[in-house]
Amino acid sequence: RGGENNEGGYAYYSEEMNRNTLDLLRIETGLLHAFEYNELLLYYQPKVDMATGSITGAEALVRWQHPERGLLLPGEFIPIAEETGLIVQLSDWVLDAVCRQARAWKEAGLAPIRIALNVTAREFTRSLPDRIRAALSRHMLSGDWLELEITESMLMHSTDRVITIMEKVCSLGITISLDDFGTGYSSLSYLKRFPINTLKIDRSFTMGIPEDTNDCAIASAIIGIAKQLRHKVIAEGVETEKQFNFLKDAGCNELQGYIFSRPVPATDFHAMLLEGRRLKIVSEHPSLPLD
Ligand code: C2E
Ligand code: MG
Ligand code: MG
Ligand code: MG
Repeated sequence: RGGENNEGGYAYYSEEMNRNTLDLLRIETGLLHAFEYNELLLYYQPKVDMATGSITGAEALVRWQHPERGLLLPGEFIPIAEETGLIVQLSDWVLDAVCRQARAWKEAGLAPIRIALNVTAREFTRSLPDRIRAALSRHMLSGDWLELEITESMLMHSTDRVITIMEKVCSLGITISLDDFGTGYSSLSYLKRFPINTLKIDRSFTMGIPEDTNDCAIASAIIGIAKQLRHKVIAEGVETEKQFNFLKDAGCNELQGYIFSRPVPATDFHAMLLEGRRLKIVSEHPSLPLD
């Protein structure tokens, strides 16, 4: 990256530096500001049991309340955080913020409910179990409040090292999901070696259901693999009743998607839990008993 190798804190911009580089620098500086001024926040998207329609947990998704640009989605700053190394600081912030929130929910009387964190390859290091253990004890929480979402790319290299880290995480009572499943390079023979609890069908497949026969076939195959390996399976990006019916009939356990709720602020998620909100179409589905 241009500008990075300049000494004395001066950045020298040459003509050929493109707009992207300037954007990158602007966002990098802005992110440092965001940490200092508490501009980051977490939204929570419920995960729902397809059989009962009730909430089983949530995924914590980071947002940036930018002073000029409004609420930014992770796609606009996570890649830059990764490129600049700020992802380490960001992940620490997310881990602490999730634990602080879970602690508040615990104090409010909620039974443990798993809040999932997204972990990138870069943070998946030997120190991760210790960082998580420290965060849990700092907030006096048990591991059954947390879940990690990792991607297939993490299963590709240094297998034994990765398995050791995952086993330490699991020994804290935390579960692990394989996010965006089917989009990466995944060797199915690797899959059985890792202590994974859940496969998460990527939204790109859910989107094509039921019209696209290939997407239907892939989703069904993933559900089949999950069953055979005795993993749970969740579909992300479920928006329509047709998608819901197909996935449910194919044996999918849970869903996450706009059909139930978009990602929402912590208070809204808490309110959903308190009112026992459920996915309504479940009870209208003929294969299920009405309550
Ligand atoms: P992801 O982990 O695959 O998260 C699911 C994304 O799909 C979220 O986007 C969510 O808002 C979106 N989504 C869920 N249901 C639906 C639906 O029915 N329709 C549509 N159109 N979209 C749906 P979001 O919040 O923009 O996050 C994007 C990605 O950013 C995440 O993908 C995850 O990879 C990353 N990310 C989010 N928060 C964090 C974080 O705290 N740390 C790290 N390392 N990455 C994060
Ligand atoms: Mg995720
Ligand atoms: Mg995902
Ligand atoms: Mg995805």
